[in-house]
Amino acid sequence: MAAKEEGPAIGIDLGTTYSCVAVWKNDRVEIITNDQGNRTTPSCVAFTDKERFIGEPAKNQVDRIPVTPFTVNAKRLIGRRFEDESVQRDMQLWPFKVVATDDGKPMILINNKGEEKQLAPEFVSSMLLSKMRQVAEDYHGTTVKNAVITVPAYFNDSQRQATKVAREIAGLNVMKIINEPTAAAIAYGLDKKDSSYGERNILIFDLGGGTFDVSLLTIDNDIFKVKATAGDTHLGGGDFDNNVVNHFVKEFKRKYKQDISGNPRAFQRLRTACERAKRTLSFTTETIIQIDCFFNGIDFYSNISPAKFEELNMDLFRKCLQPVEKCLNDAEMNKMSVHDVVLVGGSTRIPKVQQLLQDFFNGKTLCKDINADEAVAYGAAIQALLLSGQCNEKVKDLTLLDVIPLSLGIEVEGGYMSVMIPRNTAIPTKIEKIYFNSCDNQTTMEIDVYEGERPRTRDNNLLGSFNLYGIPPALKGDSKVNVCFDIDANGILNVSAEDKITGQIENITITNENGRLSKAEIVRMINEAEKYKAEDEEYKKKADARRALENFAYKIRNRVKYEKNFSSQFDSTDMKKIKKAVGLAINWLDDTEELLEAYIYQHKMEELERIYNPIIRNM
Ligand code: ADP
Ligand code: MG
Repeated sequence: MAAKEEGPAIGIDLGTTYSCVAVWKNDRVEIITNDQGNRTTPSCVAFTDKERFIGEPAKNQVDRIPVTPFTVNAKRLIGRRFEDESVQRDMQLWPFKVVATDDGKPMILINNKGEEKQLAPEFVSSMLLSKMRQVAEDYHGTTVKNAVITVPAYFNDSQRQATKVAREIAGLNVMKIINEPTAAAIAYGLDKKDSSYGERNILIFDLGGGTFDVSLLTIDNDIFKVKATAGDTHLGGGDFDNNVVNHFVKEFKRKYKQDISGNPRAFQRLRTACERAKRTLSFTTETIIQIDCFFNGIDFYSNISPAKFEELNMDLFRKCLQPVEKCLNDAEMNKMSVHDVVLVGGSTRIPKVQQLLQDFFNGKTLCKDINADEAVAYGAAIQALLLSGQCNEKVKDLTLLDVIPLSLGIEVEGGYMSVMIPRNTAIPTKIEKIYFNSCDNQTTMEIDVYEGERPRTRDNNLLGSFNLYGIPPALKGDSKVNVCFDIDANGILNVSAEDKITGQIENITITNENGRLSKAEIVRMINEAEKYKAEDEEYKKKADARRALENFAYKIRNRVKYEKNFSSQFDSTDMKKIKKAVGLAINWLDDTEELLEAYIYQHKMEELERIYNPIIRNM
């Protein structure tokens, strides 16, 4: 746990599409605005052949001419395997390439400064985390090291581990990883604290850009207990956008007999326009799509109504109700027992989604009074405050009881899954079970750890395996091995096995780290992150020096050109000197598009000052 004197502790919502950072200050949660003055920051990293961009500037790169940047969305890839169906599906739509490492991890292929490079999703996520950290540091004016980070409740063990690695690379201290809906519930619960009493059942419906999370919690005074979670790791605003994009691709083909699908830039511009239209449709009855010089010189204009938008996405909207039902079933709760249905995530602004949900709950009024974009970071900031040991009357008794999203177990004879910890068990938790040898004289027992709900392990997700050696030979069923599953408060799992017959206690950790980064790789990425940071600083230095020269030269040029009194104060020789020097500097700037070393601009600036300053001084 972080100590009080270690500086501010922040809450970061690292969203698939937007991220948000918050902190407890002056007796309340403050959402920290980024350098552009926005309360949320696009979860975008873009690479051009010259530079790396993070956040707003990265998103702005998407449509720029003539660069085709790589805007990568690492949360979709983090902790997954290359061959995962979801990775394969996403890859079809991304403008950047994903390749597999020898051990099956997906890597993002980028072209940075003319060099082809492979980036691990953890590394890209760490860049976003560093950005959010920077936003918080600019706000506080001090170093910020401690953070609570949120992940979708549905994230599996390896996705959580990978998120932890990203945080390590970003140089942030481990405080806690909490589930996004739980964080939102804290925000909601705190808001309602004074007005409600007794136990309340809350359903958090979080539909964002890429993931969908449903959680059922009970709030009893200050105790937040998660009853069940469900969701879809591949459902959100981005999918609605895809359907609209495909609709317009077809329309364009029909109207102009041309296919834009092979053109990533046109595709991306259409995507941006569709996303904007979708947002507008949540509040208006019709909207237009307008993209000048869209494809082969054709300007594309069209329109879309809410009815069309709903028709295109109705299947997906309906799909959103399945996890709600599953969550209620898992918690063995009737929908009439839900006191509040709370909307979180940008996509819950879609009227049809709200209507379907409201109908499902027999017309119940949905709670929209917490900010859908900020609630998760808000809750994370409260959690960070608690963990930092700072005492605050409003939140001091708040207790969080989270659950694991998927069942965990080991493989037993016949390829079946023996569940050690069922899904929706509260964490932290530790469960031990005895397993017996499955054949005579078995001296080694292989422990394969899986997560998932299917009875056969081949349908579940292998998290790791290890062997317990040196079991004394015995008849089938006579050797006893005690297997222990220990999950910490972050939902991260440690497994050990112990031979009961010899009494020898051996702690064995998982060796086959399925798709995870090795310590050496993490260290390499930390160093690389430093290198990127240094490069960014170097670039900024150059760009600042160029801008300073530009500003100075244009300031003089404008004075000479537009201020009548200015020119009249000098004799014509001085005036000519100034005009010539400024003209040369501006021409030189126009001719050198490539960013040069900072000292070159500084040198030019000094030259200009040497001519200009003495004349001005004698005015
Ligand atoms: P995440 O947590 O996945 O990053 P957010 O909760 O920030 O996502 O939601 C982002 C998604 O919400 C995007 O797909 C965005 O297009 C969508 N969105 C934002 N505002 C609206 C709106 N007014 N109508 C419909 N969708 C919206
Ligand atoms: Mg979110």
